Amino acid sequence: MESKKIFELIEKEKQRQTKGLELIASENFVSDEVMKAAGSVLTNKYAEGYPGRRYYGGCEIIDQIEEIAIESAKKLFGAAYVNVQPHSGAQANAAVFLACLKPGDKVMGLDLAHGGHLTHGSPVNFSGLNYDPVFYKVNKEDGRINYEDMMATARREKPKMIIVGASAYSRDFNYKKFREVADEIGAILMADISHPAGLIAKGILSDPLPYCHIVTTTTHKTLRGTRGGMIMLGKDFENPFGYKTPKGEIKMMSQVFDGAVFPGTQGGPLEHIIAAKAITFIEALSDEFLVYAHQVVKNAQVLSKSLIERGFEIISGGTDNHLMLIDLHNKNITGKVAEKVLEKAAITCNKNMIPYDDRSPFITSGIRFGTAAVTTRGLKENDMIKIADFVNEVIDNPENDKVLNKVREEVNSLMDSRPLFNW
Ligand SMILES: *Cc1c(COP(=O)(O)O)cnc(C)c1O
Repeated sequence: MESKKIFELIEKEKQRQTKGLELIASENFVSDEVMKAAGSVLTNKYAEGYPGRRYYGGCEIIDQIEEIAIESAKKLFGAAYVNVQPHSGAQANAAVFLACLKPGDKVMGLDLAHGGHLTHGSPVNFSGLNYDPVFYKVNKEDGRINYEDMMATARREKPKMIIVGASAYSRDFNYKKFREVADEIGAILMADISHPAGLIAKGILSDPLPYCHIVTTTTHKTLRGTRGGMIMLGKDFENPFGYKTPKGEIKMMSQVFDGAVFPGTQGGPLEHIIAAKAITFIEALSDEFLVYAHQVVKNAQVLSKSLIERGFEIISGGTDNHLMLIDLHNKNITGKVAEKVLEKAAITCNKNMIPYDDRSPFITSGIRFGTAAVTTRGLKENDMIKIADFVNEVIDNPENDKVLNKVREEVNSLMDSRPLFNW
């Protein structure tokens, strides 16, 4: 097999991304600059360690790049400490678990079936296999986190760490309430803002940094950067680990977290990706990104409202962020089939469990949509109404190839009018 084949496939994937309507809530499109850095010669360099203290020679230039990434991320989120080396969101979370917990310690996260993430205690993930997970849930009636119940669970179970954050929750979080109960039981509070990071950075959603001891994120969802992860500590970080801090307690904790990433859970950092992260943060600091982030939320609100007007049921009745979870029960179609038929019409999304789902994770009763990627394509409120019509036609006619083909052509021509890649 020749490597040419891979480039042919990359070209095909580029066409798919260009022509299709991307509604996967966790995806986005990076700028040409981010792409260029991610595909650069930096991939050749080993740089185990941190700027100024590496285990390899020749890191002088790499050090400057990583410093810019760190400083830009600090400025973007107002964080006191940042580690930009985690290869992904899951890797960032693994490092936090290693830094904060011993195997077998109890952790509390949002139930996976209620919008939580695999790394928040799922039985098939390290977080559930090596630790002792308990979960809080959303209300059946309104799809929102039941804060009273969450606090009662925390008081009863006394987890050593509480995780606030989700992959399929369309509402903002009350971080203060989480902190209140964490303080009461002496727990560490970690926020995982992988999904809404870009919206939080621009002040559109509540900021977890003043309340949470630790904040982790991915850099490739609403933050619109390269695929990667990151760990942050806030200014008011109060040392929850009982370490003696002579004066700079932040420095002390930075050593703990730096050590948990390398050598704790990773080897050499991906410096090409760290360069791409630096560009991501610099882009996100711009005023254009503020306009983008506002448009993401406006689009999500119009899309969810338009879907509701067409008879779709949205969990919690709407959205505060970039995503929405659709309960398909009244449409007599499963999440699995909906995902498939939408794909036939060039609309990409993912099947998703809904809270209290009566179907398995492989079938599901829901689908999840997000507007981060379509907003990058330049789609606005009036396009969201069109998307709701496309989705409605497809879901009403899952076996009618004529309808599916017609919608696909309409999707393709809409996307053709919004060019994507300059390379
Ligand atoms: C996406 C996501 C992650 C994992 O990110 P990967 O980069 O895929 O490892 C972790 N936590 C939450 C809440 C997420 O949404």
